[in-house]
Parts: sequence; C-alpha cells; structure tokens
Amino acid sequence: MRRGIAVSPGVAIGTAYVIHEIFVNPNTQRLEDSEVTAELASYETARDKSAIELRALERKVEAQVGHDEASIFTVHQAILRDGAFTNKIRNWIVEERMNASAALHRLLGEYTTLFAKTNDDYLKERLNDVRDVIIRLSSHLSDVLKPDQEMIEGPLIVVADELLPSQAVALGNVDVHGIVTQAGSQTSHAAIIARSRGIPAVSGVKNVLRKVKTGDQLVVDGRHGVIEINPNVESLAAFRKLEREFVDLKDQLASNRLLPAETKDKVPLHLEANINGIPDAKGADGMGACGVGLYRTEYLYLTHQDVPDEEEQFEIYRDIIAASPNHSVTIRTLDIGGDKTVAYLGHDHKEANPFMGWRSIRLSFEHPEFFNTQIRGIIRAASEFPAGDVRIMFPMVTTVEELRKLRAILRKAYRTLEGRGLTVQNIPVGMMVEVPAAAVMIDTMVELVDFVSVGSNDLVQYLMAADRDNPKVSHLCQPLSPAVLIVLKRVIDVCNRRKVPITVCGEMAGKPKAFLLLLGMGLRKFSMSPAFVPSIKQLAAQITVTEAEQILEAVLKFKTTAQVSKYMARQIELVAPKLSILDSD
Ligand code: PEP
Ligand code: MG
Repeated sequence: MRRGIAVSPGVAIGTAYVIHEIFVNPNTQRLEDSEVTAELASYETARDKSAIELRALERKVEAQVGHDEASIFTVHQAILRDGAFTNKIRNWIVEERMNASAALHRLLGEYTTLFAKTNDDYLKERLNDVRDVIIRLSSHLSDVLKPDQEMIEGPLIVVADELLPSQAVALGNVDVHGIVTQAGSQTSHAAIIARSRGIPAVSGVKNVLRKVKTGDQLVVDGRHGVIEINPNVESLAAFRKLEREFVDLKDQLASNRLLPAETKDKVPLHLEANINGIPDAKGADGMGACGVGLYRTEYLYLTHQDVPDEEEQFEIYRDIIAASPNHSVTIRTLDIGGDKTVAYLGHDHKEANPFMGWRSIRLSFEHPEFFNTQIRGIIRAASEFPAGDVRIMFPMVTTVEELRKLRAILRKAYRTLEGRGLTVQNIPVGMMVEVPAAAVMIDTMVELVDFVSVGSNDLVQYLMAADRDNPKVSHLCQPLSPAVLIVLKRVIDVCNRRKVPITVCGEMAGKPKAFLLLLGMGLRKFSMSPAFVPSIKQLAAQITVTEAEQILEAVLKFKTTAQVSKYMARQIELVAPKLSILDSD
C-alpha cells in the first residue's frame, strides 16, 4: 500500500503499464561485437515506428483539436530527423558498444546538462520535446506495451512520473482504467485527463516508478489517494467489489445526464463544466452540463511556441463557445504561474514560492500587449453570440485596485475594437475569489463585478497555507475544514444578499460531501469536471434545500475537519449511499 494525493475519485484494478520504466532501470550491458549491426537495425526500426506514430498523431490532433496543438508533433518529427541526434546514438552503439536504450538515456542526460546551462528560456522549454521524442524511441526498443498501439487491450493502469502532452493525447485511444503518477499535482496533465474522463487517479506517489513494474497487478483507490501493488486475495476481493460498484455507478449515471438539474423540492440548479479545450467542451455537453463555468485558457498558451495573435485567439474562443452546451461560457484570462510556466512570457522557473509569486493577472499586468490581445480576442468571440452568453473572468484578484485596473484595461480594449469599426457588445465581467484577501473584502469587491466565482482549490491552499500539490502537506489542504466553510459561507451570503451571481468552480463543487454543504449555504451555481455532472444531478435529486440547510447547521457547530468529514460521510450514506465512492479525502 502506498500513499499519494487523491486526484480523481473511484476505484480501479488493472495491469500496470509503466511509461518511463526504461529510464528508471536502463540496461547498461555492453554489446558483443556480433550484436552491433542488429542493435543499429533495432534503432532504425524504432525511428521508423516513431516517425509513423508522430505523423499519425499530428494528423489526429490536427483533425480533432487544431492545427496549433498538432504543431508540437511537427517539432517532434524534426527532432527525430535531426542529424546530430542520430549520429551520436549511432556512434555510441558502434564505438562504445552501448545498447540503443542506454545510448538514448545518455543523450537525455547530455541534453539535460546542456539545457541547464543556457539562460534561454525558450530552449529550456524544448527539453521537454526532446525528452518526449527520446521516450517514444525508447518505448519501441523495449518490450513494454506502447499506449498508442492497438495491441493494448484490457484494463490498464498507467504509471508514469508525469504524463507528457503526447502521451496524454495517445491515451485517448487506450482502455485506461486508472492513472498513477510520481509527480504530485492536482493540475497536472494526468490529473486533468483523469477527471475529465472519470478515471480513478492518484498522484504524488513517492518512488512509484521503482516499486511498480509493467505487468504488476495494481489497485488505484482514487477516494483515499492510495495504491496497492500486487494485493493479496482478501484485499483484491474487497477492491473488486468497490470497482464493480464504481463501474455500475458510472454506467447508471451516464444515463441520467438528461435529467433536470434540480433538488428534490424542485429548486433549479445550474451545473456547469470546467474545460480546457474543444474536446472537453463537447464532453461537457455529453455529460449534461448546462454551460461552461470555467474555461481555463492556459492550455492554449502551453501548446503554443509564442503568444497566439488576436485573430487566432478569436477563432479558438469562437470555436470553443460554439462547441459548448448552450453556447454559454465563462472564459478565464490566462492563469499561468504556480506549477505551469510559459517561457515566452518571460516566466522565471526559479521563483522560491511560485504559487505566491508571479502568477495570473500579476503576470498579465506586466505584459500589456499580450493581455490586451487576449481580452480583445475574448470580446470579439463573445460578440458573435447572444449578449450575456459569454463572460470574461479574472483569476487571482487580490485587491480593489487590481479590479479597477482590470476595468480600465477592458474599457481600452472596447475603444480599440470600436476604433477599428467593429461592433462589439458589453460582456459580463467576473472575478475569482481564490485569495483570502478578496474573500475578506468581498463586500467592496462585488461592487466592481457582474459575477463572482470561487476558486476553492486555491482558496483552500492559501487559507491553510498548504501547497495544493505538495504531498507532504496535502493533509492540510482540507476543503471541509471549518475555517474554509466559514469563509465560503460568508462570501456566498454577501453575494446572495447583494444579488451578485455566484458560482463555485473549484473541485469542491463536484464532490458529494462539499456539494451538500454548498447547497445548504445557498449556492445554486456549480462548475465542475464534466464527468461529475451526472453524479451531482443524482445527488441533488435526493435532497431538499431545507435538508441541506439542516446538515450545514449541524456541521457549522463542529470544530475539526475530521468531525465534518465523518458526519458528512454518514449523510451521503443516508441520502445517496452509492455516491460515496465518488468522494475523496
Ligand atoms: C481554483 O483555484 O479552484 C480554480 C478553479 O482554478 P485553478 O484550479 O485553475 O487554479
Ligand atoms: Mg485557481
């Protein structure tokens, strides 16, 4: 049994497929003279196979996502063709009798050292691409399964340090039942993919790449953030039962998606989705969300090599809105920083406290060109749809002055667009409440916005002073802590009293225990990973608002998170017992 962070709920059992296995234990045995020619041939075959895969991926991503997202695979093909890269490998095989896998491992080491010495941030970012290509080549040299090959069938549990973008895309083809990563992050590619596809996942499992081998039997318990390697018979039987319940529940919930979103006493609810791109927007529709409460624009920037121009952003936003349920979308401006960096925005990789540092609008303010471009792209796209359907939202707002400055930037963007003779409409402007200072100042802040959305993931980490991605302090990142509940209740009360629409768009919104409490606090709009919409619909249908208020009243008397959590687990057991499996610690 090993512990990590619960990043996507549910229980899964399957065969481990370790993506980076080759890099953890490279085989360093020297080749015999007679083996050199065959080794060179294997390397060439691996190159050919990688080239075929990359071309296929480029075409697939271009068709399904877009030209720019596909360009990453064009870059990978260029790396694969690079003469210096291939000559080094060939030389090491021939002259130093290294096997091809060990040669690739050494090449990666050389690149890592080289990139560490350069100050060019763009070049540093490219290391990830080189790494990705080397891993791809290696996967064709070892006998491990390859996730983007049709040969993989059955329940797989993917184990990786962290999923690279190309691996994440490739997983779309494979029957993955669970994901386990060594790097710990709620916001990693792995976590986001797992949640949007409803796959149980655990992140931040220390040394998992050393402990698990491809072929091991693995249990992933995404409720408690633990995994079990080669479990004994009793344990396996208990987890099998839980897994069956989870799978049955998912099937049953999928058929619920057309149910109205309302409580047992018919109070209508707004259940929206959090998305990162077009595939999620389509998924949100499929899961029965009524709109998009949070479109995280970070991925647009992370998949580009330079700031996308206004025309391109306009087109991307317009396509996302068109693909979203009811064309209703809240677009959040860039929230880079923390664990995500964009080199071309001059982001410093060495900040001591990145989550408390140069992040979100703090960075956008210092890049007026880029920020204005994004805002104009959003206004233009919104203007193609009925007024009010598309909204703009600013992350990490900390002070009243920032809000005033944001208003001024918006006014300037409107003037520029109108100066060009374009007809644009006023779009609702919202702020995220995710910094405690904004929660404290909410009475003043609401006067400057049309709506509020609580980013509970950040609000919890900042209130508890516990990095949300650090497994060592994850026990303190407690959404159900009385401190968090008191702050949330106050923000919701103020907004409701002032009639300012309020949503919670952090992970809390989609978790059964927290959902009941938020409902009791008077929240009626929730935005969550699309996969959670059907379960929250089901839960809402079993409870009246008065019952939720009574549960909240009892909970607000507790002094510890453990008391709240225990009491809420009992309430979920009473109201909708099957849904407990979808909650996490
Ligand atoms: C949040 O902080 O709750 C939120 C929704 O934003 P993100 O997870 O993207 O930081
Ligand atoms: Mg946030």
